[in-house]
Order: sequence, then C-alpha cells, then structure tokens
Amino acid sequence: MNTPLIDPFHRAINYLRISVTDRCDFRCVYCMSEAMQFLPKKQLLTLEELDRMCSTFVRLGVEKLRITGGEPLVRRDIMSFFQSMSRHLENGKLKELTLTTNGSQLHRFADQLYAAGVRRINISLDTLDEEKFARVTRWGRLPQVMRGIEAAQNAGLRVKINTVALKGFNEDELFLLTEWCARRDMDLTFIEVMPMGDLEGEDRIGQYWPLTELRAKLAQQYTLSDLDERSGGPARYVKLVESGQKIGFITPLTHNFCESCNRVRLTCTGELYMCLGQEGKADLRMPLRDHPSNDKPLEMAIRQAIGRKPKGHDFDYSRQEIAGQMSRHMSHTGG
Ligand code: SAM
Ligand code: SF4
Repeated sequence: MNTPLIDPFHRAINYLRISVTDRCDFRCVYCMSEAMQFLPKKQLLTLEELDRMCSTFVRLGVEKLRITGGEPLVRRDIMSFFQSMSRHLENGKLKELTLTTNGSQLHRFADQLYAAGVRRINISLDTLDEEKFARVTRWGRLPQVMRGIEAAQNAGLRVKINTVALKGFNEDELFLLTEWCARRDMDLTFIEVMPMGDLEGEDRIGQYWPLTELRAKLAQQYTLSDLDERSGGPARYVKLVESGQKIGFITPLTHNFCESCNRVRLTCTGELYMCLGQEGKADLRMPLRDHPSNDKPLEMAIRQAIGRKPKGHDFDYSRQEIAGQMSRHMSHTGG
C-alpha cells in the first residue's frame, strides 16, 4: 500500500493544483505583461502526460485536484482531460475535481464540466463595470464572462467569485460586488494582490489594498461573524449576518497561513512547486518521460519533493518595499 504524502512539518499533502497551460485569452494587469512570451508547446506536458502525473498523485493520496493556468479552458481538448479524470471521482479516490477560470469559455464548456463530475468552480472577476473590466483584463470582455457565469449556474455548478482587491480600482465596488453575488447565491472571496512576476510599468505597492482595510469597510455595512471553516488553504471566511452570505479573504501578505498548507502546485511543464512563495521546485517531467511504462521513479521524485516542502513563504510589503518577490508569474505556477 502507498503511504500518504507527509511533509517535514507533518502536513499531509492531499491537494494538487495543476496549471495546464501558461497561455490565456486575457492579460490581467497584475498577472501578465501585454507582450507575454509563452512557452514553446513541446515543453508542455501532453494531456496524456498530465493524466499520468495526476493519476500518480491520486494514487499517493491526493484527494483534490484544481485545474488552473493561465486560462485552463483555452487549452485545446482540455475537456478530454476532465472526462478522463472523472474516473478517479467515480472510484472514490478523488473527492473533488475543480477549476479556476476567467469565465470566458464557460458558455462552451459548463455542461461538459458538470458531466465530468465538476460541481464547484471559481471564477475570477474584479469589477462589474464593462470599461473597467476591459482595462484590468486588457483583452477581456465582460458580457462574455457574464454569459459564462450564467451558463455555469444553469449547468448546476456552484460558483465562487474571486476578486483581487485593487486599490483605487474596485474599492468603490465592494458593496456592489457583494450584493451582486448574494443575489445570485454565489460566494465571494477577495484576494490580496501578490508580488508575482516582474510586470513592467505596474506599481505593486500602489495596487495593494490590504484586506484588513477591505474587511473594516465591509463591517461598516454588515455584521461579520467569523467562521471556523478552513479550506486547508489561505482563505479565511466570515458570514454576513444580514444576508447569510459567505465571504472569503485570501491574505498571504497580512496573515501567515502556511501552518495548515496541504497543497503543492504542478506547472504545465511538469515542475512541482512545493510553495507558491518560494523558488524551490522539482522536475517531474524527466522521471515521467524517461520511464514511460514505470511510475516508480515518478513516485519517488514526488516523495523526495514533498520531503523538501518549506515551512512557509516570505512575502512582505511591510517595509514599503517588496520583500520575497517571486520572479515567476502567477500564470506559470497557477493561481
Ligand atoms: N485564468 C484563470 C483565472 O483568472 O481565474 C486561472 C489562473 S489565474 C493565475 C488564478 C487566480 O490568480 C485568479 O483569481 C487571479 O485573479 C489571481 N491572480 C493572478 N495574479 C495575481 C497576483 N499577482 N496577485 C493575486 N492574485 C493574482
Ligand atoms: Fe489570464 Fe487568469 Fe492571469 Fe487574468 S489572472 S491574465 S485571466 S491567467
């Protein structure tokens, strides 16, 4: 029998996030530069290799897979990957198959995602204003995303909206967004902007709206009741007593959430990052490709990598300079 994946700090690793592509049909200002250079296709794991990789993690005890990117739904034939992963849901080894998406392609894929066993998805949306949406995503169009959200809900998918808190950009939409989600029975999570990737001309500290401030503003209009619930991830949740709505806060910069971290991240080229905020990684593509019909070397490489999972990250804006900044982009590791 396979022993579970336990890291040096006694954390069980049962959650894998997989970036299936570094490409995207948007160019969000905090995530990508306008002239992003993407990886040559041959460096990417094929869908068959992604399947073998994920299936190995599932065999080693991973119970939750989150598919992300770049934009996962722009990867060609990605539905066949979801369909193939659904076998792990059917045999009970996998508890959840989910994705994070910008929503642009959901009108095409929502029904197929549901049919593959996906039940909950995260959709990123920073503003309800068409002009601001075009500005923050550069290439995105709000009506298309709205159509995607509607398609997802009609297909039976539970939707959580992820909103990056951006100073001077969506501060004025806090209540609007909250009420809009409540009306549609969608949970809402705010994310602090993180220093990922070197984005020419973007002012990180200027963009940073601490969630402590956002939370205080929310408390002017609602009674906030802390929920114990933890997803094993960086989100903390409150309930708005007046509406019953659940609001999440992902605060990598003002709180340390590392002690309960249960996750690792796989890039589309087969690198495993043991921590979003550290450079340490392991190459899993080599053991996978060098041994096409033997998973043991891959399993061993995974175990060795988990054995090197660091205690936590070092992001810090507190001295008004960016400490612990990562040179890679969020779209590389998968948000
Ligand atoms: N394209 C998909 C999407 O936008 O949902 C999935 C990938 S995206 C990298 C995942 C999440 O990371 C999104 O919610 C996005 O807003 C967030 N994100 C990207 N860059 C970020 C940054 N620098 N700081 C905080 N969140 C970021
Ligand atoms: Fe694309 Fe998502 Fe990054 Fe925006 S946040 S550029 S949608 S990968």
